[in-house]
Amino acid sequence: MSLLVQKFGGSSVADVAAITRVARRVVDTHRAGHEVAVVVSAMGDTTDELLDLAAAVNPGPPPEREMDMLLTAGERISMALLAMAIEHHGVRARSFTGEQAGMRTDRSHGRARLLDVTPDRVRRTLDEGAVAIVAGFQGVSEDEDVTTLGRGGSDTTAVALAAALHADVCEIYTDVDGIFTADPRIVPAASRITRLTVEETLEMAAQGAKILHLRAVEYARRYDVPIHVRSSFSDAEGTWILVGRPLTSHLEDDMEDPLISGIAHEMSLGKITVVGLPDIPGTAAAVISAVGAVGVSIDMIVQNVSTSREGTSDISFTLPVEDGQRAVAAVQAMQHQIGFVDTHYSSQIGKLSLVGAGLRSNPTVAGRLFAALAEAGVNILMISTSEIRISVITDQDRLAEAVRVVHTAFHLDAETPAVVHGGTGR
Ligand code: ASP
Ligand code: MG
Repeated sequence: MSLLVQKFGGSSVADVAAITRVARRVVDTHRAGHEVAVVVSAMGDTTDELLDLAAAVNPGPPPEREMDMLLTAGERISMALLAMAIEHHGVRARSFTGEQAGMRTDRSHGRARLLDVTPDRVRRTLDEGAVAIVAGFQGVSEDEDVTTLGRGGSDTTAVALAAALHADVCEIYTDVDGIFTADPRIVPAASRITRLTVEETLEMAAQGAKILHLRAVEYARRYDVPIHVRSSFSDAEGTWILVGRPLTSHLEDDMEDPLISGIAHEMSLGKITVVGLPDIPGTAAAVISAVGAVGVSIDMIVQNVSTSREGTSDISFTLPVEDGQRAVAAVQAMQHQIGFVDTHYSSQIGKLSLVGAGLRSNPTVAGRLFAALAEAGVNILMISTSEIRISVITDQDRLAEAVRVVHTAFHLDAETPAVVHGGTGR
């Protein structure tokens, strides 16, 4: 007998048919003799609809406490309906809010962090032979106020619950068959990745692959929780995410590890270039701090000694496009104090990232990547690397093609196109 945590995203519980399908899967798992704790997201686009309602009654920044009260209702609906659907199959099921499931968080509404997870009632429910269902993405603060963990936070609930219950696996059910070598909507030849290390998954998620809530992966690394990302539409094996690269009974290990695990991309970035900075200590700090002070987090930074203006340097950095104007204004406000010449802003920037543990030991990857882009006539605007990743910034309108040619260049193309069940992968 194993203890499984099964998390179902919004697209997997979008309507009655979907909830019925999930109920059947949970019941089958339970009847096979396993203990099952389930984590659910809100049905379909419920969270977005609730956000729209809030904006309609209060167009200003809405009161954060009430926003969390509102958004947590979405998960309460799906957890109760799923419990009823399971009971209909003759298996006992009890649903729990985040608070009832012992998810204690800090007070930061809308982006709360888990402080302590004590799922005693969940444990007791499992001991009684019933299925426990927990509302995703929510908890309760020290002030006993309801909090949410941030968009997509149900993944984190699931991993945290799995860690606290010492579950054998945390299964993340979604509308695609696992994690792919690239986004199948851009690369039809993308193939399912059989397994990833937690480090590779963190890089992929951080570089824009919409696979899992980043914090869920961090949590899994810290508490050593094996994750299995798989489709709620089929019984096919998905992608295993494992800490380190242990050999477990679920995995055949007959292949040498591939050099590259996958390609992540981000379509909507902005790029700011600050031109003619005095080439003295402190100017980079001043520019980057100005941006940080308005709450914008920047991604890639490149600084070059200017070839045209002696004694000056240029600094370029990328950021989420929705923060672009705010960041430009913050930098421009410092022009006199810092003494740079000009700023340029582009809102049409994309990023491609190659990720793979095999990168560590292979010096030829960068050359192969740049050659593939050159052959397709894609200009590289910036480059950055980590131990297991190489990222390049390109113009947005060339990014999709760039991802495709690089996918081919690293022999990641599958023979048959990936199956996407019309969803969002969430
Ligand atoms: N329902 C929440 C959202 O849409 C949480 C989640 O789905 O994980 O962001
Ligand atoms: Mg959702």
